[in-house]
Amino acid sequence: MTIPSLQDLHGLGAAQQPTYPDRAAVDAAVTRLRTMPPLVFAGECDDLKAKLAAVSRGESFLLQGGDCAETFAGVTADNVRNKLRVMLQMAVVLTYAASVPVVKLGRIAGQYAKPRSSDLETRGGVTLPAYRGDAVNGFHFSPEARTPDPHRLVDVYNSSAATLNLVRAFVTGGYADLRQVHTWNTDFVRDSTAGQAYENLAHEIDRAMSFMHAIGADPDEFHRVDFHSSHEALVLEYEHALTRIDSRTGLPYDVSGHFVWIGERTRQLDGAHVELVSRIRNPVGVKLGPTATADDALALAARLNPDNEPGRLTFITRFGATKIRDGLPHLVEKVTAAGVEVAWVCDPMHGNTFEASTGHKSRRFDDVIEEVQGFFDVHRAVGTWPGGVHVELTGDDVTECVGGGGESVAEVDLGNRYESVCDPRLNRVQSLELAFLVAEMLRKA
Ligand code: PEP
Ligand code: MN
Repeated sequence: MTIPSLQDLHGLGAAQQPTYPDRAAVDAAVTRLRTMPPLVFAGECDDLKAKLAAVSRGESFLLQGGDCAETFAGVTADNVRNKLRVMLQMAVVLTYAASVPVVKLGRIAGQYAKPRSSDLETRGGVTLPAYRGDAVNGFHFSPEARTPDPHRLVDVYNSSAATLNLVRAFVTGGYADLRQVHTWNTDFVRDSTAGQAYENLAHEIDRAMSFMHAIGADPDEFHRVDFHSSHEALVLEYEHALTRIDSRTGLPYDVSGHFVWIGERTRQLDGAHVELVSRIRNPVGVKLGPTATADDALALAARLNPDNEPGRLTFITRFGATKIRDGLPHLVEKVTAAGVEVAWVCDPMHGNTFEASTGHKSRRFDDVIEEVQGFFDVHRAVGTWPGGVHVELTGDDVTECVGGGGESVAEVDLGNRYESVCDPRLNRVQSLELAFLVAEMLRKA
């Protein structure tokens, strides 16, 4: 299989691309990126594909989560560890409470480019290019920061490499050892209601492990976890430069991450993103919002997975809490009736954004849960497997989404610790609470 040139891809029409002022600088950055070694190995992508095939067969559950937009400044040991830790806690809750294997996939080590609803942003009478993620320009509202700079793509590569290196060290080097299950429950989260529920569950796991130890069983699975990376494949220069031929198979893989997805705004059937992603052999996803028809989904499956290979394609639906119960059944029924192999995953974040009274972009915890509940109910009614959740979260105690159990964030609190440069994320307590609620839904599924 061949890969179209970058020029040919652009010729198809590519939505949501930066307008770079300096073409020579773009060429220099792409040339540099083409010399850089892969961030992931194609064989790891195949392993993840096999795990996602189990999700599509109804044997596993996908937990995909991380920032809406990573930042270069956020590449610190604390920040990476905190995100990994909340994912590990959530995965333990889901695995233990629902007795289902959980596939762990970070929105991490590459999630630096954002589609925007408007090309421009106006503040106080001044209009500048919108912030498109650290991959493209700076968040600061000045002409210098907001001018797209292609050298940032090389920074994306370096930041992703540093992040992935630390994640790999944590998950294989002992941090993710199940004997650490208590130590992940630290600081502010431990005293929350969800943190206490977690503590009880961790005690049960300890007892089970002591029993296993006493009978002489000490499987490798206790000591390490599989954790994969994912991001939206958005900026063509970057994804194209990191698409390489796998020496084992002679097939192309996008080695910038294990899994890449196409966003709601770039899933045009004849567009550049679908074309590029159709050529790579990674497991891939597509976001499907409320305007996606069943025919759109079938056409995307035909383009992205013509051989109907299990694990290759994930549909990530993001309808919104008020639309999912009406919109999703027809889509799932028609795709299922056509015999299409797909993993169905729920993104309960992107259809539930609102502007709070404080002016912050926010989401209500209850809406997030209501969409996941709708997702489970629809799949149960149709007879298909609710394969996973895709959430925007952080390991820190931020105030970006409102609601959640006893430690509820109110609208007036949003300004206290609103740190996202793009969409609002669940904080660590809200994330853990979501895991318990989803585990309950899974148990019933
Ligand atoms: C995102 O995942 O941050 C995003 C922009 O989602 P969507 O493409 O579904 O709007
Ligand atoms: Mn987002």
